[in-house]
Amino acid sequence: MTRRILFVCAVFLSLCGGLFGQGLLLKNVVIYDGTGNHSVRGDVRVQGDKIVEVGKNLAPKATETVRDGHGLALAPGFIDMHSHADGEILDDLDAENSTRQGITTVVVGQDGESKYPLADFLAKLEKTPPALNVASMVGHGTLREKAMDPKNQLREATPEELAKMKSLLREELKAGPFGLSSGLEYDPGHFATTAGVVELSKIAGEAGGFYISHVRDEGNHVFDSYEEIIQIGKGGKLPVEITHIKMGVPAVWNMAAKRMPQVFEEARKEGVDLKADVYPYTFWQSNLRVIMLDRDYYNPEKVAKALEESGGPGHMWFTSYKPDPAIVGKSLEEVSKMWKMSPVETYMKMVRASDVGVGGDPDNEPSIMAESMNEADVKWLIAQPNIMFCSDGGLRDRHPRGAGSFPRVLGKYVRDEKALTLELAIHKMTDMPARQLGLKDRGRIAAGYVADLVLFDPATVTDGSTMDTPQAPPKGIEAVIVSGVVVVEKNAVTGAHPGKVLRKSASR
Ligand SMILES: [Zn+2]
Repeated sequence: MTRRILFVCAVFLSLCGGLFGQGLLLKNVVIYDGTGNHSVRGDVRVQGDKIVEVGKNLAPKATETVRDGHGLALAPGFIDMHSHADGEILDDLDAENSTRQGITTVVVGQDGESKYPLADFLAKLEKTPPALNVASMVGHGTLREKAMDPKNQLREATPEELAKMKSLLREELKAGPFGLSSGLEYDPGHFATTAGVVELSKIAGEAGGFYISHVRDEGNHVFDSYEEIIQIGKGGKLPVEITHIKMGVPAVWNMAAKRMPQVFEEARKEGVDLKADVYPYTFWQSNLRVIMLDRDYYNPEKVAKALEESGGPGHMWFTSYKPDPAIVGKSLEEVSKMWKMSPVETYMKMVRASDVGVGGDPDNEPSIMAESMNEADVKWLIAQPNIMFCSDGGLRDRHPRGAGSFPRVLGKYVRDEKALTLELAIHKMTDMPARQLGLKDRGRIAAGYVADLVLFDPATVTDGSTMDTPQAPPKGIEAVIVSGVVVVEKNAVTGAHPGKVLRKSASR
């Protein structure tokens, strides 16, 4: 009788171990620990949501599930430094476009746009957790929109409005975001002065945060924009990050290798911690207006020049257009032929349809993909030790970056083109962003760290998403683990939702 009770107890305890995700032993894996150090073969023991032991020939415990990694690579979960997952995540808790890539943490609230109030959004995520972890920035554009008259915000803020933005920022910082984001190429951020951004950055910096920016000009004056972000870092006394760094028009192609070392050197001399992140594609996605930096949308000569610099009408494709969804997937050149007007006229007609000033509806604004970067720059940026990675993608993106960025770096740039070592690529996807965010227990495979992990095959890992199949899953991602729970198994989501809301702690 006593033996029978003991047996029942033992079965019960081992079931509890399984149910609570306690006790997973990953055997026979090649460990890329996130530090950039050389990989080592070994085993990793996970208990609950933590890594508890890393070593060789670890003996399984009675209650543990043992998983043979068959010599595959094990890395810390990838951190996407610029994600638009906040757009759809409450309706798409699996977040499969992200998780299938090995992404276990997304940093949202980008390009100056964050959910408002942030505390409410984060509370909703805590109530219905997604598959991955979410960290947010506070959007500078969002603060502007809340502090200024919506009909009159395409101008510099008055001192009173700036004071209002500061107090809104202080309020938003209480929810635990990781700093301030801006989209100075977009409305309304474009109308902010450097000094105004510095004032807000000081507050973000005092809270231990950093500043991440879609800079003011990614094209002809991109290096002036880098000058500006260094000044913001200096004035705001906080680390700064150029997000989705690019040389976005032919006039600055091949400048990455020539000029970026100087930019980083200048930042260092100014005492500014400057970093960047990049996605591995030569084409971008945004709205149609972004190519006209001076907002002179109806000047035919300027429009013609901007279209040419953005890759030309044959290299700009529509990804959404409310008045006529049938044009999605077509190029500006094709649409202009259909409409029997020049590409310049087609452009102006579309801007007019969304221009409130001439009776248009802002919802009519089309989004586009355009190929205006060159491969040499993208490859150089990917290989740099101080440049992290991002997808810049949403969960239902038309741009393949939303489903393919991280495996594309590992497949195309690490394995096939040998632009950088696997150790360095993993470091730039894990430990480096974790340090940028100030996450003390993520980004590495070591005892005490949270068990966010990716098991993948370096020989086969690759992106599957293309312009025609933007949501296609990557290949070679064997398993993705968030807080000790498997969320992706053999490139497919499991339906588990162990993701956490990550909040900034007071000290960096
Ligand atoms: Zn952006």
